[in-house]
Amino acid sequence: MERLVAALAELPGLGPRSAQRIAFHVLRASEGEVEALMKALGDFKAKIRFCSSCGNLTAQDPCPVCRDPSRDRTLICVVEEPKDVLALEATGAYRGLYHVIMGHLAPLDGVNPEDLRIQELLDRVRRERPREVIIATGSDADGETTALYLARVLKPLTSKVTRIAAGVPVGSSLDFVDPATLTKALEGRRDVA
Ligand code: ZN
Repeated sequence: MERLVAALAELPGLGPRSAQRIAFHVLRASEGEVEALMKALGDFKAKIRFCSSCGNLTAQDPCPVCRDPSRDRTLICVVEEPKDVLALEATGAYRGLYHVIMGHLAPLDGVNPEDLRIQELLDRVRRERPREVIIATGSDADGETTALYLARVLKPLTSKVTRIAAGVPVGSSLDFVDPATLTKALEGRRDVA
C-alpha cells in the first residue's frame, strides 16, 4: 500500500490524499477493472509517442496530419497541447499543419522558453519557410504571454505571423470552445505587430 501510494503521489495533480483514495479504489475494484487500467497504461506507453515533426500525440511517426498530402504545408498553427489539435481538427476549418509546444510560458512557476518545444518551432520555421504561422495559444494570461513571446521570436524568421481572434472567451483553453466559435476565431486572425 505504501509503495503504491508513493508511486501515485508522484503523478501530476495528485497528492498523498488522492493517491490514498485511488489505492482504496483499486482495492475495491474487480480484477478485470484493474487489468483494463494496466493494459491501457501499458498500451499507451508502448504505442503512443510524440510526432517528431509537430509534437502531436500519435501511434505512427510522423502523425496522420503531417503525413496527409492534402494538408496545406505552408501554414503552421502553434498550439499549447495535443488536445488543442483535436479541438481545431473538430472545426474542420483548418487544413494546415500544427506545432505543439507542450504547455505555456509561466515564469513564476519556472516554465521558461527552453522548457517548451519553442526551439524546435524556430528551427522548423527556418527549414520549412511557411507562408504563415498562426499563434493559437490560450486566451488566459499565460497563453497571452506565450503568444507575445512567440510573436517576438518568430517575426524575424517569417513574413506573416498571426494570432487567432479574441472570439475565444478570455481565460479559456481551446478545447473548451465550441467549434463554431473556434472557427470564427481562426478566420478572424490578425497580423501581430
Ligand atoms: Zn505531426
